[in-house]
Amino acid sequence: MNDAIRLTDLRVRYGRVRALDGLSLAVARGEIYGFLGRNGAGKTTTLRVLMGSVGADSGTIELDGQPMKRVSVATKRGIGYVSQEQTYYPWMTPAQLGRFVAAFYPTWDHDEYARLLRVLDVPPDRRSGILSGGTRTKLGLALALAPRPPLLLLDEPTSGLDPVARREFNDMVVSMAAERGTTVFLSSHLVDEVEGVATRVGIVQAGRTSIEGRVDELRDRVRRVRSGAPLEPPHGFTRVRGDVWLADGALWSAASWPDGTSVEPLPLEEIFLAFARTDAAAGATS
Ligand code: ATP
Repeated sequence: MNDAIRLTDLRVRYGRVRALDGLSLAVARGEIYGFLGRNGAGKTTTLRVLMGSVGADSGTIELDGQPMKRVSVATKRGIGYVSQEQTYYPWMTPAQLGRFVAAFYPTWDHDEYARLLRVLDVPPDRRSGILSGGTRTKLGLALALAPRPPLLLLDEPTSGLDPVARREFNDMVVSMAAERGTTVFLSSHLVDEVEGVATRVGIVQAGRTSIEGRVDELRDRVRRVRSGAPLEPPHGFTRVRGDVWLADGALWSAASWPDGTSVEPLPLEEIFLAFARTDAAAGATS
């Protein structure tokens, strides 16, 4: 089966800034992929490439097995998008916005939109400008899902929300994605949010994916090694940063260490801290 998204060696420059510098990643169909990175790492640029608003200088973009130079308007109709800043015509109600946005999407499903507003608890007849931030974000999700897109892109959608609203929004995304088999690409710098939602994770650093895999795989491959005396990584092991090393799970199981050495698995937060910094080892994808 084709991957929903496959980006290979993507490069994007803004003048002299290399926003994407050889970024590669793959997202399987039906997967919730958490795309983690610090400010300025290249997350928004990757989403702009996926939305067709920026073209890549080089590299390949494949959506559902179709290679393309730039994502076209027609392809974009199969992509739902929710960002942190939902801006609508403030005088329009959710019901009016639905009728307005429907004109751009041949696959728009009016009944589904009405159902989504009900399920997400968005009042259909209040002006969108006076809705709370959380309700506006849920309105954004309803507008994005009503055309039944096979791919949903989420650009830090919960960053303005309180923890309860964030949890509700994420639970909703997980259950809707499961119900419909939607592929979800979630860009965020909130590690705990991604850990709770994503089936696979990619960490982007300075325009490249520095590591990619299921959360349990990453925890299997990246560990902290503490020893009394200085210790160099043996063959097959890479020092990511300080005492955080990377190796295949099988190597970790087979390794023997000098007395006084401790080897500990790490929470995703620590893995992110090790891989998201500029001097982290790159290219550790699986
Ligand atoms: P954030 O989490 O802060 O939104 P990000 O991971 O989304 O960051 P990008 O917005 O993709 O990162 O930016 C990647 C790099 O490209 C940064 O160095 C940024 O300053 C630069 N950049 C982004 N947009 C432009 C632009 N229009 N012109 C020049 N440089 C840009």
